[in-house]
Amino acid sequence: MTDGETTAAVILNVDHVTKRFGGLTAVDDVSFAINAGEIFALIGPNGAGKTTLFNTITGLYKPTAGTIRFQDRDITALKPYKIAELGIARTFQQIRLFAYMSALDNVRIGEHPHMHAKLWDDIFKTRKAGREEARVTERANELLEFVGIRQQAYNYARNLPYGHQRRLEIARALASDPKLLLLDEPAAGANPQEKRELMTLVERIRGQGITVLLIEHDMKVVMGISERIVVLDYGEKIAEGKPQEVRTNPRVIEAYLGKSA
Ligand code: ADP
Ligand code: MG
Repeated sequence: MTDGETTAAVILNVDHVTKRFGGLTAVDDVSFAINAGEIFALIGPNGAGKTTLFNTITGLYKPTAGTIRFQDRDITALKPYKIAELGIARTFQQIRLFAYMSALDNVRIGEHPHMHAKLWDDIFKTRKAGREEARVTERANELLEFVGIRQQAYNYARNLPYGHQRRLEIARALASDPKLLLLDEPAAGANPQEKRELMTLVERIRGQGITVLLIEHDMKVVMGISERIVVLDYGEKIAEGKPQEVRTNPRVIEAYLGKSA
């Protein structure tokens, strides 16, 4: 290890995490640590366990074994809203937006990861909360601008082109002001040009001081922007390292060639 590596602050520590569904081991004793300020990629063929690991980190699934620590705090048993409150936001592989709400409102909702009915009322309906509403709206507009879809602010989410829906998901996740952002295949379905633009957006997000954990199926997409990469195959970590190291790793080549990824 170089001095640079030992002094970097670990923001997320995944420690021997296993997740089983009945007889299937979707995530198998996986460990890695993400440093604050990194773009860290999680790659692997379809079915490798990438999304399951995200669901485990964000509290949707309780791991069968292992520990997850965020900023030195054990978050393994915490509920999803609590984990969101602590500063972890995510997007979903299958886009989850409020279809019949405007792009702007989808982002406004994201500003309140732990919002319940009472708070909802305060923010959107009562007069005394007007100032707060104006601030939330302004911030939402800024985020739409940041991800490049400001012009879509008043359109229903369902009417946005697919690529813009993906960007809207990212804006909504950013609205909670996360320290760590988990992106589940943000470039899925995008053409090569769009993929490059999305990776530029990921770099800009990191430029805001947000650590990024990025799932990607296609190794080439993350090569240019990730500091480090973990490769999963059948739930197991088969490689970890800098992009150049991972690309030439025989186990990684075999895993990808074997499944025409
Ligand atoms: P990836 O995101 O890498 O494509 P997933 O994490 O979605 O992989 O899936 C890993 C494995 O776990 C697959 O075999 C999948 O069918 C299985 N799996 C994922 N979620 C569930 C679930 N809720 N119940 C049962 N099996 C699941
Ligand atoms: Mg997945």
